This record gives sequence, C-alpha cells and structure tokens, in this order.
Amino acid sequence: MHMHVVESESAPGRAAVDGRELRALVAQLRAIVGERWVFVDEHELRTYESDGLLQYRALPAAAVLPGSAEEVAAVVRACARAGVPFVARGAGSGLSGGALPVADGVLIVVSRMKRVLEVDLENQRVCVEPGVTNASVTAAVAPAFFYPPDPSSQIVCSIGGNVAENSGGAHCFKYGFTTNYVTGLELVLPDGSFAQLGGKALDAPGYDLLGAFVGSEGTLGIATKVWLRIVPAPETTKTLVAFFDHTRAAGEAVSRIVQCGIVPGAIEMMDERAIEAAEAMAQAGFPPGRGAALLVELDGAQRECEARFQEVVRVCEECGSDDVRVARDDAERERFWKARKAAFPAMGRLSPNYFVQDGVIPRTKLPDVLEQIEELGREYGLLVANVFHAGDGNLHPLVCFDAAVEGQAQAAEELSGRILDACVEAGGSITGEHGVGVDKRKHMPKMFSEADLECFQRLRCAFDPAGLANPTKVMPTPRLCGEVPGPYRRHPLEEAGLAERF
Ligand SMILES: Cc1cc2nc3c(=O)[nH]c(=O)nc-3n(C[C@H](O)[C@H](O)[C@H](O)COP(=O)(O)OP(=O)(O)OC[C@H]3O[C@@H](n4cnc5c(N)ncnc54)[C@H](O)[C@@H]3O)c2cc1C
Repeated sequence: MHMHVVESESAPGRAAVDGRELRALVAQLRAIVGERWVFVDEHELRTYESDGLLQYRALPAAAVLPGSAEEVAAVVRACARAGVPFVARGAGSGLSGGALPVADGVLIVVSRMKRVLEVDLENQRVCVEPGVTNASVTAAVAPAFFYPPDPSSQIVCSIGGNVAENSGGAHCFKYGFTTNYVTGLELVLPDGSFAQLGGKALDAPGYDLLGAFVGSEGTLGIATKVWLRIVPAPETTKTLVAFFDHTRAAGEAVSRIVQCGIVPGAIEMMDERAIEAAEAMAQAGFPPGRGAALLVELDGAQRECEARFQEVVRVCEECGSDDVRVARDDAERERFWKARKAAFPAMGRLSPNYFVQDGVIPRTKLPDVLEQIEELGREYGLLVANVFHAGDGNLHPLVCFDAAVEGQAQAAEELSGRILDACVEAGGSITGEHGVGVDKRKHMPKMFSEADLECFQRLRCAFDPAGLANPTKVMPTPRLCGEVPGPYRRHPLEEAGLAERF
C-alpha cells in the first residue's frame, strides 16, 4: 500500500513536549476521565493511527475517551495549559485524514458520548451528543420523521464528524447538507471554555458563527452537543434505475430532469466499471456492458410523486435509455440502493488498490468532465470508475492502481490531482463532502488566493489563538496566530518559509 507516513509532523511553532511534561499531562487526563479511558501504549494507539484514508498514519502521544462534555472541557483545558495540540475524533470514518493524530498531541475520541438528549417531534428538533451515529438520529424519530443528510457511512459515522465535515449524501440534492440541519451547537473552545452557538430556534442574530463551525474540520473546537432539525417522512417514495449507452446521455437526462422543475430526492449515476463491480457484489440484476446507470428517487405526496415520476421515465427514454426499471416494491428498491452503495467497496474486486476522489462541478459540465476523466485515465494507463451524486455534480472518481507495481501509486495520486484541476477549471471545487483534512490541503491554493487563505486564518485564530486545535489540517502551509510578547524574532519555521505570522 502506498503510505504517506506523517509521524514526524507536529504542530507548527511549538517545541515537542518532553517526556516529563507528557507524563504529567497523561496523569491529569487519567484523573479527568479515569485510568481505563486513556491510552498511551503503541499497540493501543495503533487503533487510532488513521481515519478512513489509510494511506496516512501517525501515532498521537495519547488517546483519551471522555464520557461527558465536562470531561471534554477538562481534557482540552489540560492540553491548553500544557501547550499540547489536540485532534477530535468521532468514528474515524473520514476520507481526508481530518482525524489523523498530530504526532506529539492528544487525540480526543468522543465515541463514548452517544446519548440522544432530547427528541422534540412537535418542534422538529433532536438534541444529541456528538458520538451518536447519523443513522441513530433517524432511528430516534422514525417513522413519522427522518434526518435527511445521509452519508453512505451513516451506520458508523458520528454527528460530530458530520458537523465538522458538513457531510452530505445521496438525498442532499433535494434536502441539503448537514449545515442546513444544525440549529445549535454546544462547543468546547480550544482554551477549554464552553460556548453555545444557536440552539433550538432558527437563525440567531449576529454573525453566522454556527455556519462557520459547520465544516471547520475540528479546527475551531469540539462540538459536545448538537441540535438538529428533522423533517416529516415523505408519504411515498418511488425509485427507478435507467440504463444508457454512455454517461453523456445519462448526464443529459440529469440536466433535463432538473430543468423540468423536478427535484428528485436522489439522483445518482454509475459508469460501466462501477456497474460491473457493484453488480458482482450486490446482484441487483444490473445488465453488463451498459455505459451508465441512473438511479432516480422521487419522494413526497403520492399524487405529485406519481405524476412527476412519469415525466422522469419519459425524459430518460428521450435521452436514449431503452431500459428503465421501476422498483415494484421495497425489496426491489433496496436492491437498487444496495448496488449503488456497493460500488465503493466492490471496487476492491476490480483492483487491489484505489483512491476515492471527491470533487464538485456544475451539473451541466458533467458530460464534458466525465470525458476528461476518461482521457486522463487513458493518459496514465489507469482504470477510473465513476459513481456519484449526479444532481449535486459531486463526483467520486475511483482511481484504481496496484501498489505492488512500481510507480503506480504515485501515478494514481497525480491523476487524482489532475481530476481536481479539471473540476476547478470547470468552475467547481476540490471537495464536495469529504473535506480538506490533511490530504487536500496542498490543493487549497488551486481554489483560494493568498488573501482568501489569510481570511480563513484570521477566523481560525479568533477561535484558537494558540493554534492547538487540529493544527496541521486544512491550511496548505502551517501558520501561527497573533503577536508574541516581547521583541519580535523570526521563528525558525518562518525562516524556513514553512510558517507565517499574522
Ligand atoms: C465507506 C464510506 C462512505 C462514505 N460516504 C460518505 C458520504 O456519502 N458522504 C459524506 O459526506 N461522507 C462520506 N464518508 C466520509 C465520512 O464518513 C464522513 O466525513 C463523516 O462525517 C465522518 O464522521 P466521523 O465520525 O467518522 O468523523 P472522523 O473521521 O472521526 O472525523 C472527521 C473530522 O471531524 C472532526 N471531528 C470529529 N468529531 C468532532 C467533534 N465532536 N467536534 C469537532 N470536530 C470533530 C475531526 O477532527 C476530523 O477533522 C464516507 C466514508 C466511508 C468510509
């Protein structure tokens, strides 16, 4: 496997803690959360060395699992006093290395904080601790309500991680992303103090700090309580899968459906390779050799849904689909979705290794960019399969390679970067839902000017002047915050051009 071992990477502008200081900090952590919830031995820390992006690894100095918001605050205060950086971790399913430990820092794992604190169906609100899984939120309010943002990892990923990544999923085209559902947050700020942004009610006055926190990837503090909006479950759901000869025709169908004013609950596309891999695993009866499969789901009031569904069938046929399959019952609907959701893991059957890329393009550019991706695959001699949220223009190219073949991993990584270049050139973004983390920080200057990055850094410094919260993530080069007391001296990292001061 191609590994970026980043064990030497620690926070900028800060000397590593010595053994004595570290032992004192660990003793404090044990006093706060109890002996059994602090891990320092290498074999225990290995559990936390990566998130879902396995090619990055780093061991923290300690991993600590607090059981309450008060314990999180006390742990963060202890880190702040010792000047030790910390990284929040939920379920560790992130795909951009966001929860990758900082080498000599503390990993704060909130997975024990799993209580649903309040279910208020009348006001359509739920309040949960950050370690509650995404799927448990819907489970807590079903059958009359549901929580729409639905990452494919929803059985394991935590609401805290969803908030930090502004996660999305198949139903976000119609329903919106996590940011559209978080009405309030209780936070532990990087100095260990508590703050509350928003609450149960919508749209608090003042600056939208809630909006700033959602998607901040653990760099502004740790969410310890989350208020979420839930919505009524639709009266009915209708699902079809249409097969096309080429992704261009399927992409055209996507644009036409949306232009008709139809807002599908989900509209997902798979290309030929993804269909082949998924079918081998899910056995949904998807035919071999078709260029593209479009899965369209409409939900809402029965009569409107039925009428609109006929329009979707018509558009698919007009765009060249000669095989439109309407799910006859829940079992068939589940089979269609099983195939869609199997596409990522099934890729392991086609290739020993693959990178999952995550980029966004304007929906109308789908056919052009997919062709560019195909050309890039040919140029590099690598297989690229595509499975994605077509309605949002959120691509997930799966770049296949064999790490045992000299140079292929590097080629695949370069090709992945060129796919992002194509997305940015098409007016899109370097990430749709998986975040920047450690993996995409080098690509940030493709989208943002130095002035933009400086603006981000000022916001970050307002929350975290000591630079302790997830310090090595998101920004392309490590930066320091604020003035230091005493005469100004350039830090060795500044001398080396690796960090700068604001
Ligand atoms: C098979 C698979 C499918 C996936 N499908 C999707 C998908 O469809 N859509 C999608 O958006 N993502 C998807 N993901 C990515 C991932 O599941 C999401 O990013 C998810 O939100 C991460 O949650 P987590 O609890 O695992 O967070 P982690 O990986 O533990 O952490 C992610 C980030 O959140 C920060 N963080 C965690 N908890 C907190 C907290 N309480 N307060 C502040 N910061 C915190 C961490 O520091 C880190 O930066 C998928 C991943 C896998 C493995």
